[in-house]
Amino acid sequence: MTIQSFIPPHRILMGPGPSDISPQVLQALSRPTVGHLDPLFVGMMDELKSLLKYAFQTENEFTIAVSAPGSAGMETCFVNLIEPGEKVIVCRNGVFGERMRENVVRAGGIAEVVDDEWGTPVSVAKVEQALKDNPDAKVLAFVHAETSTGACSDAEALGKLAKQYGVLTIVDAVTSLGGVPLKVDEWQLDAVYSGSQKCLSCVPGLSPVTFSPAAIEKIQSRTTPVQSWFLDQSLVLGYWSGEGKRSYHHTAPVNSLYALHESLLILKNEGLENAWQRHRDMHEKLKQGLAKLGFEFVVEESSRLPQLNAIYIPQGIDDAKVRNHLLNTYNLEIGAGLGALAGKAWRIGLMGYGARAENVALCLRALEESLAQ
Ligand SMILES: *Cc1c(COP(=O)(O)O)cnc(C)c1O
Repeated sequence: MTIQSFIPPHRILMGPGPSDISPQVLQALSRPTVGHLDPLFVGMMDELKSLLKYAFQTENEFTIAVSAPGSAGMETCFVNLIEPGEKVIVCRNGVFGERMRENVVRAGGIAEVVDDEWGTPVSVAKVEQALKDNPDAKVLAFVHAETSTGACSDAEALGKLAKQYGVLTIVDAVTSLGGVPLKVDEWQLDAVYSGSQKCLSCVPGLSPVTFSPAAIEKIQSRTTPVQSWFLDQSLVLGYWSGEGKRSYHHTAPVNSLYALHESLLILKNEGLENAWQRHRDMHEKLKQGLAKLGFEFVVEESSRLPQLNAIYIPQGIDDAKVRNHLLNTYNLEIGAGLGALAGKAWRIGLMGYGARAENVALCLRALEESLAQ
């Protein structure tokens, strides 16, 4: 058998990520590779940092992209901020909250779990009670945009509550960054991680993170070394910062970083507020069309993410059959249900470049035709 170059079809990605990537970002990816310590590349990295600060709405000096997917950003926050034996309040209202709990335990911490129903946001009242009941807790961890259900939690209220009780926050903003308001400084969030392939519409494999001065202080006052060499941010810091002091830590994913630079530039040129509004507008269009087709949302309107629309699969409809039909006939990918919603719901993503009127129209038309069959 001869193996030939892999040439994928052009899919329209309307699932939970990766999202549709703009041709401009794909072009950036194919530019010539330069050395990762090349002065020109170092200059690009400085711009990338400032673009990331804009996206996160922060002045945090430590704002970088971890050279690995969102899950590595998650792990970076937990392994750096938590020392063995420390107590962490973890909010769990979906798949990613459970992953946070797993990270706490693996970092040697003690997880105090606050559970909420799948499809509902994290209860601020329950978290306040947990903070009262656990005065020895050091960190509060929660997911801003829970991609498994489409629920958006009140990161502003949770961030401010944490400060009131003197604990640091670890926030999963993988799906929220660029899609819904996220204001790291104003909301006083400490360690926030995201992903390149959701509302930033970049290639998968990079994880923007930002650490507040309080988070950096916590890392610097550790009494035990971070058990992961690769994710130890005290070592990475030397690579991303310091005039002329840039030293080798690992080989940066050069071309992927070009792509992230380009996608953040697109976001900056559009303007964050405009991007948030566009996500809301496209959600509104999709919602109206889905209502006509008789679909019901998993999440209440008030806490629904515009970029992740979880809808119940109608009675008597074959989940896999419809999704395969969409993929094979329309080159359209939508997401299956995850965890408790597996087989019960679909997840339609309107993320970044994918949040466009033509995508909404295609998705509605394709769903209507598939259900009629
Ligand atoms: C996608 C996602 C992750 C994991 O990101 P990967 O890039 O797939 O590792 C973490 N948290 C949330 C909320 C996500 O949606």
